[in-house]
Amino acid sequence: MPSLADRGSRFLSRLGRSRLAPPLRRLGINRASVKRAAIIGGSLTLGLAIVVGSIEAQIDRIAILGFHDIIDPNLPSERAPARAPVESDYTRQDFERLLAYLVDQNYWFLSADDLYNYFAKPDPDPIPDEFKHRPRVAISIDDGYASAHTHAFKAAENIQKRTGKTIKLIWFINPAFLGRMDTTLPRMTCEHLQAGFEAGFYDVQSHTANHQDLTTLDPDQLKVEFKQARDQLVTCIGDRDRDHQVAQHVAYPFGAVNATVIQYARRYHLSGYVYDSHLLRVLPWRDRYRLSRLPVNASMPVKKLQAWAAGRSW
Ligand SMILES: [Zn+2]
Repeated sequence: MPSLADRGSRFLSRLGRSRLAPPLRRLGINRASVKRAAIIGGSLTLGLAIVVGSIEAQIDRIAILGFHDIIDPNLPSERAPARAPVESDYTRQDFERLLAYLVDQNYWFLSADDLYNYFAKPDPDPIPDEFKHRPRVAISIDDGYASAHTHAFKAAENIQKRTGKTIKLIWFINPAFLGRMDTTLPRMTCEHLQAGFEAGFYDVQSHTANHQDLTTLDPDQLKVEFKQARDQLVTCIGDRDRDHQVAQHVAYPFGAVNATVIQYARRYHLSGYVYDSHLLRVLPWRDRYRLSRLPVNASMPVKKLQAWAAGRSW
């Protein structure tokens, strides 16, 4: 493979011998001036790449991890044949290992309101001193599976007992499924959400009412999906939600979103989350209705999630 310099000089000598040479000379363009222009162009490109690279290095990146069901393979009821494995499952053991690591590294577990207030809204609030120098991460759990609640609640309790720290887990819930046992996988109940909220572990947010692909719905259905979900979650948590934090934010089912969906999301929520497998880049012009999340699945080792939390792509 010839080097770029070889190819460049071959191009120049071909140009010098070609039929284009006389008219180019008349325009004052000769081999030397082309070479000079190439050197200047190359230096400018290199300079630009260095500037872009150093700006990129300054950009704050936050990992918003997206879990679904959390299962304990040691329990016969949570492994095959009683329960077929799903790609998006994560084991209780690895989930606990990850949380323990993040707590011991003094991570700040962001709520959806924290993400919005300090990193996503226009003109964000200044970060309080106690959080300023701590690494940041957000743990979100979608769909509200009963086993995910059992293991996540227990993990948060154990961490509190061991360290005195209260971690925050963001739940994106479809209230139409709350307490349902007739779905493929049993769902958590409103009482589970209340218990987690009261303990300070759960941040309760919307995943819309029925887990539909919102891009396929008409305006009336979109309104129901956003409004009904928000109202039901607010009713479920009730007076416990003194700071009005419940269902202020939404994660679109399947991460499916378009301009019409966002138009409706804006009426009912302050921000929206997609699944684009990117770290959230904290930029002033960030579209707060397309906040990035990283979907987690069974094949991902804890080390990979730790690298994401540290702001590194794997
Ligand atoms: Zn979902």
